[in-house]
Amino acid sequence: MGKIRVLDEHIANQIAAGEVVERPASVVKELVENAIDAESTTIDVAVEEGGIQLIRVTDNGTGIAADDCETAFLRHATSKIASGADLFRIKSLGFRGEALPSIAAVAKVECTSSARTDGLGKKIVIDGGVVKMCADAAHPRGTDIKVSDLFFNTPARLKYLHTVQTELSHISDFLYRIALAHPEIAFSFTHNGNKLLATNGNGDLLQVIAAIYGTDTARKMIRVEAETADFSLAGFVAKPEASRANRNGMTIAVNGRTVRHYLLTQAIMDSYHTLLPLHRFPIAVLHVRMEPSLLDVNVHPNKLEVRFSKEQELLGAIRQATAAALKRTTLIPSAVQNGPLKTYMQEQLVIESAPRQAGSGRPQQATASGRTVQEVQPELAPQQAKRPTNNRYAYPSEAASAAKPPQDRTAPTVQETAAFLQAAAPTQTSGGMPAIPHLHVIGQMRGTYILAQNEDGLYLIDQHAAHERINYERFYELFANPQEASQTLALPLTLEFSPTEMNVLLAKLAVFAQAGVFLEHFGGNTLLVRALPHWIPAGREKEIVEEMAEWVLAEKQEIDIGKLREKSAILCACKASIKANDALTVPEIEALIDRLRACRNPYTCPHGRPVVVSISNYELEKMFKRVM
Ligand code: ADP
Ligand code: MG
Repeated sequence: MGKIRVLDEHIANQIAAGEVVERPASVVKELVENAIDAESTTIDVAVEEGGIQLIRVTDNGTGIAADDCETAFLRHATSKIASGADLFRIKSLGFRGEALPSIAAVAKVECTSSARTDGLGKKIVIDGGVVKMCADAAHPRGTDIKVSDLFFNTPARLKYLHTVQTELSHISDFLYRIALAHPEIAFSFTHNGNKLLATNGNGDLLQVIAAIYGTDTARKMIRVEAETADFSLAGFVAKPEASRANRNGMTIAVNGRTVRHYLLTQAIMDSYHTLLPLHRFPIAVLHVRMEPSLLDVNVHPNKLEVRFSKEQELLGAIRQATAAALKRTTLIPSAVQNGPLKTYMQEQLVIESAPRQAGSGRPQQATASGRTVQEVQPELAPQQAKRPTNNRYAYPSEAASAAKPPQDRTAPTVQETAAFLQAAAPTQTSGGMPAIPHLHVIGQMRGTYILAQNEDGLYLIDQHAAHERINYERFYELFANPQEASQTLALPLTLEFSPTEMNVLLAKLAVFAQAGVFLEHFGGNTLLVRALPHWIPAGREKEIVEEMAEWVLAEKQEIDIGKLREKSAILCACKASIKANDALTVPEIEALIDRLRACRNPYTCPHGRPVVVSISNYELEKMFKRVM
């Protein structure tokens, strides 16, 4: 006798529930998506105890017809697709006909709905997959579903639920995203009677952003809009100053569906490039629309994952649209809007005095850019500022690098540098504004910050960050053709590595050569540096090649030559730049600002820290209570 049998519907639903209903947030997601598919304009979600006790979703959509009430809870019962071909042009959020039966299999469900305007409807009660009642009931057009005692009959699953707080955070996360994806729907959300979200459904995405992230963040959003042959993109990205410590601030809705897609969020991040510090992530909301046939949503039962037929084109469109939006806007953050000015100044004070104040209890305080004092300190620490003076402006002059390499490796003089600095043309935002406005230098503060003013207010410039940005853009261009500038060293430098490291490096000699660095195995642990681009900052060659090698050793994947060149440009820029505590004359400061103005991105150093902050006249007057 054969042993195989077809499982009864009840068990099949419980198994399906395992995929569809992972936690309370999955129930909320399925019910809210059903309400959206039913063309609701208001959706109210009320949850108790993280959704474990109760989830209630009330909508004013098309409702379920009386005849359909029981069918809706059958497996693979759906009104959204009819044929196999429909699977490839899905316009609704649901289509699998699994959610209601799965939820009803593992909870107690009460659903009251009406598809009519005369107040007649139907109520159905199902406990753990068993229909307890189905009867006429008065109900306005729309649907009201209550799901209580989730997983009451599947103790193993109940055990895996986390604290109320964790489950609640999953629910809010979903609701925030879906509200961002549908500004045309008025959402409300309460937990244990406390209102956590209310949107007005007037279609204004910025108002939804304000409801979720606060008005301060909403004020820092930049509009993104683009049309390509296949895609339409619309939404907002935040100025870099409003960044987050994780990726959760990025919401992408594809045809109204919130999706998780690593590459899409990565594309947004790419467009920020060096605008963001390490480990900081943008806030962004992007609505992507495309022909449903270009999108495969039938990848996973929870429909969070999707596949695109034109993925590369989409990634390119996102990068371009977001980068263009960022470029259009002046990105100088206001020192005041970032929080009280006091905090900003205090943070800077902590950075600078950290070594002396080891016991102050605040050495780990994050800076405005999100990095800890320890990370930032080496660059700004006074003791590190003592460097050979001939190195102070040790970046090559444009003329020298374009023509023949200079025979001696002495850095240009300050005068030469200043002359070169002044030759630069200002960068403009694509709106026509100069990225860095015209400024009158007031002076230098504590050997670290440049103070400047214009008719709009006060500007503070971090001189090291500014110089680093200038140098980075120079070196970035130089590293496009580093081989041409490579010169044999009269005295080769030697570097030491362990045998395993040596093996890796020897396999990558060609990569180094493409960055203009010619290495040779001397035998044993020793590598020789035979030739280098002549413009590598003098006196820092060994450190730079060592750090390049460390980076190559740390990269797990195939080395991308573009990335190695960029990394090298950052290293050179850092080593070649003036530090804190370097005194500058007014002409030197003016030259620095002019050169900064000519940068493609004058707002951040290559590590993503801000270069300039401003305090407007109005903000100053407010501070001194001259205006209220
Ligand atoms: P799917 O959404 O994949 O079609 P579900 O199990 O979620 O499957 O729902 C089954 C059907 O019940 C839907 O196709 C829809 O016709 C109906 N339905 C569910 N929720 C609602 C609602 N809030 N308003 C109107 N109809 C609904
Ligand atoms: Mg559904």
